[in-house]
Amino acid sequence: MTHRIVILGAGYAGLGAATRAARLLRPADVELTLVNRTDRFVERVRLHQLATGQPLPDRPLSAVLAGTGVRLVVAPVVGIDPGAGEVRLDGRDLRYDTLVYALGSGTAVDDVPGVGTHAFTVGDLDGAQRLRARLSALDPNGTVLVVGGGLTGLETATEIAEARPDLRVTLVCSGQFCGWLSERARRHVRRVFDRMGIEVLRDSRVTRVGGDGVVLDDTRRVPSDVVVWTAGFAVSGLATAAGLATDRRGRLLVDDRLRSTSHRNVYGVGDAAAAPTPDGRETRMSCQTGLPMGRYAAAEIARTHAGHRSKPIRIRYVWQNISLGRRDGVTQFTRSDDSPVQAVLTGRLSARFKEAITVSAAWLASR
Ligand SMILES: Cc1cc2nc3c(=O)[nH]c(=O)nc-3n(C[C@H](O)[C@H](O)[C@H](O)COP(=O)(O)OP(=O)(O)OC[C@H]3O[C@@H](n4cnc5c(N)ncnc54)[C@H](O)[C@@H]3O)c2cc1C
Repeated sequence: MTHRIVILGAGYAGLGAATRAARLLRPADVELTLVNRTDRFVERVRLHQLATGQPLPDRPLSAVLAGTGVRLVVAPVVGIDPGAGEVRLDGRDLRYDTLVYALGSGTAVDDVPGVGTHAFTVGDLDGAQRLRARLSALDPNGTVLVVGGGLTGLETATEIAEARPDLRVTLVCSGQFCGWLSERARRHVRRVFDRMGIEVLRDSRVTRVGGDGVVLDDTRRVPSDVVVWTAGFAVSGLATAAGLATDRRGRLLVDDRLRSTSHRNVYGVGDAAAAPTPDGRETRMSCQTGLPMGRYAAAEIARTHAGHRSKPIRIRYVWQNISLGRRDGVTQFTRSDDSPVQAVLTGRLSARFKEAITVSAAWLASR
């Protein structure tokens, strides 16, 4: 009987798994189905660009998958029944023998009161489109407060400041500004922020978001026309609700073969899965991790199918690539455990490098 492989989510990880599985497995042996909420592959790493009015490449999944033999189902996944081997879609069910869980993540909006109601986000397509509409309606001298000093916060604040130099942009971060980067990288980001006129409120935690700004943990109120929330990603609760083993954030717990630790015919890849790293740290939610995980899972499924010996995945990091607008950036080289070394690339060279990596990630996922 044909082996049914169902992949949930067509982001970098899920699409990468589907296209690679199509290359490695024979159509006579397996039926490959990819389920996604929308009919487009969305380059999430470019959503801050979309929010500032830049057009994104249009990538219909039907065109990406043409000729691969992968069946595309455009529908929201609303449940999983691992006992029955079924995925519940809106109005119908899909049966699987092997499941790849690749539902990605979105912005964490539930941790602080008012975020879900008043803040804008760039973590998913709808959020980025709403922010784009709001920014384009904002008059000169309008104020924008970006909350979160991580990679997404830095990229969003600089993209907005570059595209709209008539706005006043502020970034709020808890702790030291860019504390996770090397001294050289930090100095460069600080220079770019100064040049773009972005104010930084460091050591500040937002405790409430309202329609006219935020309240900080020292009770200070910071008024702003627009608040953009970038402080952390959150994953869907579907895996936990299905009784699959998950971590405290709801990520599917997987072993070093990316197999669910509770259900052996389920694989987890990308932001939605928590894989072990050699030093026991959490995997960073990134395209840099998700794409190799997706491609590895496809190869591992093919190896298992052919009765070959399986190989553990080794998740290693090389760099953190941060855009600072379209013409500047910082590439922080890292050890394999993601900790920074002194080597950095800055300025236009880094911006060009990041653009090349972004283009090749989309190409690799859809190849
Ligand atoms: C603005 C921004 C900039 C970033 N920059 C970088 C960067 O420079 N470098 C980097 O490495 N990472 C970056 N990231 C992080 C990166 O985008 C994610 O880590 C990456 O997209 C994760 O890939 P994924 O395939 O796991 O999930 P996703 O790309 O989120 O894909 C998940 C897919 O599942 C679908 N889906 C979700 N729920 C359902 C459902 N219930 N039913 C059906 N379909 C569903 C979604 O529609 C989506 O297609 C950035 C993120 C943002 C928001």
